[in-house]
Amino acid sequence: MTQSALAQDDAADAAPQSLTDGFHLLIDALRLNDIDTIYNVPGIPITDLGRYAQAQGMRVISFRHEQHAGYAAAAAGFLTRKPGVCMTVSAPGFLNGLTALAHATTNCWPMILISGSSEREIVDLQRGDYEEMDQLAIARPHVKAAYRILHAEDIGLGVARAVRAALSGRPGGVYLDVPGALLGQVMDAVEGEKSLIKVVDPNPASLPSPEAVTRAVDVLSNAKKPLIIIGKGAAYAQCDDKIRELVETLGFPYLPMSMAKGLLPDTHPQCASAARSLVLKQSDCVFLIGARLNWLLSHGQGPGWGEKGGKSFVQIDIEPTEMDSNQSISAPLIGDIESCATALLDAIGTTWKKPDESWTGAVRDKVIGNVEKMAPRLQNNNSPMDYHSALGVIKQTIADNPDTVLVNEGANALDLTRSIVDVIKPRKRLDVGTWGIMGIGMGSAVAAAVETDNQVLAVEGDSAFGFCGMEVETISRYNLPVCIVVMNNNGIYRGDGENWSGGKDPATTVFVPDSRYDQMMTAFGGVGAHVTNADELRQAIGEAFASRKPTLINAVIDPAAGRESGNIGNLNPQSVVAQARYPQART
Ligand code: ADP
Ligand code: MG
Repeated sequence: MTQSALAQDDAADAAPQSLTDGFHLLIDALRLNDIDTIYNVPGIPITDLGRYAQAQGMRVISFRHEQHAGYAAAAAGFLTRKPGVCMTVSAPGFLNGLTALAHATTNCWPMILISGSSEREIVDLQRGDYEEMDQLAIARPHVKAAYRILHAEDIGLGVARAVRAALSGRPGGVYLDVPGALLGQVMDAVEGEKSLIKVVDPNPASLPSPEAVTRAVDVLSNAKKPLIIIGKGAAYAQCDDKIRELVETLGFPYLPMSMAKGLLPDTHPQCASAARSLVLKQSDCVFLIGARLNWLLSHGQGPGWGEKGGKSFVQIDIEPTEMDSNQSISAPLIGDIESCATALLDAIGTTWKKPDESWTGAVRDKVIGNVEKMAPRLQNNNSPMDYHSALGVIKQTIADNPDTVLVNEGANALDLTRSIVDVIKPRKRLDVGTWGIMGIGMGSAVAAAVETDNQVLAVEGDSAFGFCGMEVETISRYNLPVCIVVMNNNGIYRGDGENWSGGKDPATTVFVPDSRYDQMMTAFGGVGAHVTNADELRQAIGEAFASRKPTLINAVIDPAAGRESGNIGNLNPQSVVAQARYPQART
């Protein structure tokens, strides 16, 4: 032992066993509230916090960039119905993590971002501290709640506040500011233990009023062409059997939103995904279960929604102010989904009359027709592939391995995977969420593997992958069963992007052609594969699933496959001036 190590050992012996400190109180408070995993990037002042958490039996997953640690925590919150915890260093690390915390809040997922921060006395007088920033003030507008803990004896309180704020009512992101000095504070161990709080009933049931239930049954029973839309709030609620019972008892066609796919299997006879346009247009009553009428549903209006005023709406949501946010809700059911579904089932009893076959049969016929039309496109073995040939393989993979967690992001890679690949089980699809952000892929994949231990398949556009690609090292380091398929069409949207630079520079939307993303995984000891047709892709995925080794498959897609901005090109602003000035524009 060196001299200084000996001296440290002496100091440890001298530290009375009857003391505890901020580090350990924070860890104990998290563990007391059933939080066993932290997603983080170490650095001042939280480096030792991560080590001590590991020593105390927590799982600590260290990323290369805070944004992805944060996306992992957000996804963990969605998957487990416990707050996903991300830990970051001060200022820049905090800001990187804040993107993910805001994403969690927007998606109504429980997450806690714990960030180290600089010394209050210096920050508050703006004297220029190391990584000086008033993080609490910056976090507040982006989160459901934000707290700072200044004294070791308040750590139990701070963590309890954070856990309850994240989980209760509409879940969301919580910021917890931890000045570095707090971690080193010491206090009596017995007093410390007494100061911790285990949150009782953090997810309290919230029952709809009997009048609201009667009103909803009334509206639903008067509908001739009813439709259910199930959102990711329903997937989050983890009352899968109840939701299935409600949907099957009512007998309505239903549309799952992207991350609600699999709550009932996409192959369910009432699933209307393949007749989406028809049901949105022709239905006369829409019953929203844990889904918001936001941009993802065109705010419940426009030509796709049929005649103006031609629909009534029934909505289950835990958040009262969600009602009437876009359309008048005739029958709001404010409460948690399980309680609302139970109350509705009790109210309709055994005498419920399902909608007329003229409606359900027409929807069913449209679904069958469209599925049959799509089938041959999914079976080509062209080289390079188009999205359909690659997704035919992936669709079969998920059908054969329904416990796989499918992570998905991109533009065309997202839109086409969402519509083509059936999900069979609940909470087996993680994607870009309410904001439609790129870069969630690797963080989500890590969280899915860590939280479920299931095989993960990440279907990534080459552009989306670029936002988070360095985390393949994290996946490799923790040896996670993640198979990444990079749909490589050489660019954003398409690989043959219009070049208006006069040849001086590459087009703004293209990447280095024929890149070998697979070599990024082999660089870190994982498995790489380079495939150009469906047969090769099938084989590479088969090997990845059999071995459960970290794998990256570079799937060569025709650069001309795909559409500008995928399915949401209409959101690009248009200008008559630009149209006149650039007549060469393709779209
Ligand atoms: P999607 O994008 O899939 O349509 P959204 O995120 O827009 O889903 O909507 C989810 C909704 O679910 C939110 O309005 C949220 O308040 C609600 N929600 C979340 N958890 C519950 C729950 N346990 N009970 C009722 N509503 C919930
Ligand atoms: Mg691309």
